[in-house]
Amino acid sequence: MSEREILETQAQKCASMLEKSKRAVLLSGAGMSTSAGLPDFRGPQGIYRQKLHTDPERIFDIDAFHEDPSFFYDFHREFLRSVGKIKPTFAHRFFASLEKEGILEGIITQNIDALHQRAGSRKVYEIHGGIWKSFCPGCGKTWGYEESLQLAFEQKVPHCDSCGDVIKPDIVFFGEMVKHLDDCRALSESADLFFVVGSSLVVTPAALLPSMTRGDVIVVNKGDISRTYLPENRVVLHAEEDIDTFFRAVNSYLKLEVPEEPEEA
Ligand code: ZN
Repeated sequence: MSEREILETQAQKCASMLEKSKRAVLLSGAGMSTSAGLPDFRGPQGIYRQKLHTDPERIFDIDAFHEDPSFFYDFHREFLRSVGKIKPTFAHRFFASLEKEGILEGIITQNIDALHQRAGSRKVYEIHGGIWKSFCPGCGKTWGYEESLQLAFEQKVPHCDSCGDVIKPDIVFFGEMVKHLDDCRALSESADLFFVVGSSLVVTPAALLPSMTRGDVIVVNKGDISRTYLPENRVVLHAEEDIDTFFRAVNSYLKLEVPEEPEEA
């Protein structure tokens, strides 16, 4: 079979499985963000190391943040500028449409860039947290996406207007617990179709979630993927394909209405 034929066969199979599914779940990872054009910030070739000459480990160290939050916020603004320049991809919008159609039950993402929410997805568990909101550790006050952006650009270190404490983005730092783990587990267990898209399945506990599903597993990932935690006997489809190319092909069979421009929340 030619590459084109493999793509069409896999896309058709994926579409027919989605047609039968009532509780699909997506686990998305970094590949989904890089396909939107977001630079790799944290990897070995990432911007933090190459351009800004520092370790991501230091930027996201929770003790360092408490000692000197301005160090973190200088890098954070750089990240927010990059995220501001990109838009959700077709695949982001496709999964938002699946939710609207009642096929997708929810999304678990390892990404912190809020692209799923900007694409219109509502039930999104950010297991490593994200920039969708920020909060005050002192009094618990929270700020939404737009307000959080505004605060980060207006103040060198944003402070709470109620109690004066330093505001923290809802990102999970090194040394902090992951978020929504019970919800992520329950969602994975209940799925009748489980997508792993753009994740290399290296980072636990996210990498353990596919093994908790009783449904079939579909993997879409162009790069290497760790098989340590992958439930091989449940994987019915593994597409080593560009993410957007693959889901555009799937939708040529499924024919969902996917808005070309994301409805920004
Ligand atoms: Zn406060």
